Amino acid sequence: MIINFTLFAFAISLGSFLGTTLNRDCKTLDLRQKLTKPSSCDQCLRHLSWFEIIPLISFIVLGGKCYTCRSKIIREYFFIELLMGLLSLEVMLFSVSFYEKVLLIIIFAFLLFQILLDYKEMMLSSHASLAILVLGLLMNLIFQTFNHPIESVLSASIGFLLLYSINYIYRSFAHKSGMGDGDYIFFASISCVAGYFTIPLILCLGSAITIFIGMIHGNLSKEMPFGTGLGIAFIILVPFLI
Ligand SMILES: [Zn+2]
Repeated sequence: MIINFTLFAFAISLGSFLGTTLNRDCKTLDLRQKLTKPSSCDQCLRHLSWFEIIPLISFIVLGGKCYTCRSKIIREYFFIELLMGLLSLEVMLFSVSFYEKVLLIIIFAFLLFQILLDYKEMMLSSHASLAILVLGLLMNLIFQTFNHPIESVLSASIGFLLLYSINYIYRSFAHKSGMGDGDYIFFASISCVAGYFTIPLILCLGSAITIFIGMIHGNLSKEMPFGTGLGIAFIILVPFLI
């Protein structure tokens, strides 16, 4: 019980951090600035006190408003914390060690960051992809949670080369890119964690989810967040891979 509460608290804290990081200007601040800038109210610009940044609780107690100026706090913060809380509940159901669960929650946090960043800004962070790749490799090296570490390296290479080849063929015919460089690195990191045998499944489900997102927004002919689709597909498939 205490272990599960610790995992939940850890996950929603990461969610709180994700929310503030995603809402800082993605293009003008570098990763170091995003990580070190203290939390403040978007309206009165006052630095927030400790009781205003307790994940989930502060938003509910303060009624979703700033304690000083009473302006509305962006609801997205609350929903990201909630999503991380729900993902930690998914992780708690897995029959793996505590340390593997902690690593999985951190990987899920980076995945959620990429999913939302691609959805909002149509871009993916190579730092976050690299973090997923290193954490996945570390987890498979120590615990072999998803597969053998040599398979992880092989899977990352296959994932990268497969998307690169698909886009190369597409570009030859359509004379334009079907996806960005960030997609190759992100897919390589997911493949590294999950293993090469899951690549066709994640690719098919990820494409279907991306098309579904495009249909909802009515912009199938425009750019679509492929990274978002791939990330969601991986999270859906994880319970079947452990
Ligand atoms: Zn304020």
